[in-house]
Amino acid sequence: MRWTEDRLRALRQERSTRTVRQMAEEQGITRQGMDQLLERAKQLPIIVGERFSRLTVMAEAAVPDCDRVRRAFRCLCDCGSTSTVRPEKLLSGRTKSCGCLRADAALKRAVRMRMSPERRSEIARMGARVSQGGSKNSASINIAGRRFGLLVALRYEKNRTWLCRCNCGVEKILHGAHLRGGRTKSCGCLRQISPKDRARVLAEAEADALDE
Ligand SMILES: [Zn+2]
Ligand SMILES: [Zn+2]
Repeated sequence: MRWTEDRLRALRQERSTRTVRQMAEEQGITRQGMDQLLERAKQLPIIVGERFSRLTVMAEAAVPDCDRVRRAFRCLCDCGSTSTVRPEKLLSGRTKSCGCLRADAALKRAVRMRMSPERRSEIARMGARVSQGGSKNSASINIAGRRFGLLVALRYEKNRTWLCRCNCGVEKILHGAHLRGGRTKSCGCLRQISPKDRARVLAEAEADALDE
C-alpha cells in the first residue's frame, strides 16, 4: 500500500484523537511502523484547509518573536474564533483549539472539584487566554486550568508561582517550572499515600487531563 501525501496528512489529522497503538492496529502495522509514518507526515508542509483537532488552517501568517518574525498560521476554530498558531504547535498537537478546548476541560474539572462559581468562571477565563508565543520568560507560560498530577493551576501569583488546587482540596502556591517539570504533583498529600496506591491515584487524576 502506498502512503501518498494525502494519506499521510489524514494520519496526522487522526493523531489528535487516537493513540499510536490504536492507529497501528487499524492499519495492521507495528507501532514502530506507525511512528515512522507519523514522522514522515510531520515533515509535510502545512496547507490551507488542513485540519488540526478544532483548528482549520486559513492562511499563512507571521508572529513577532523578540527581534525576529516567525512563521505561523491563521486558523479558524470550530467555535468561530480565530487564532494564530506556530506550525510546530499544530504538528505536535500541543495546540488543538483557539483555547476553548482547554477552557472547556478546565471548567469541567472545576465543576468536578466542586469549586465555587466565582472560581469556575475565573478558571474558564484564564484557561481560554492563549499565551502569546515566543517569550522565553516562564512567567508568561500560561498553565491556568492545566492539570499536573493531583494539582490544577488556578491563578498566576508572582515570581513564576501559581496558586494551585489539589484533589484533596488544599490550595497552595507552587512554582510553575516545578509543575511543568513534573517535580510537584500534589500539595504534599501524595507522600502520605502508600507507594503502591500512589501510581493508581496519579493515573486516575491524569486520565482526567487526557480529554484536553
Ligand atoms: Zn475555539
Ligand atoms: Zn493534596
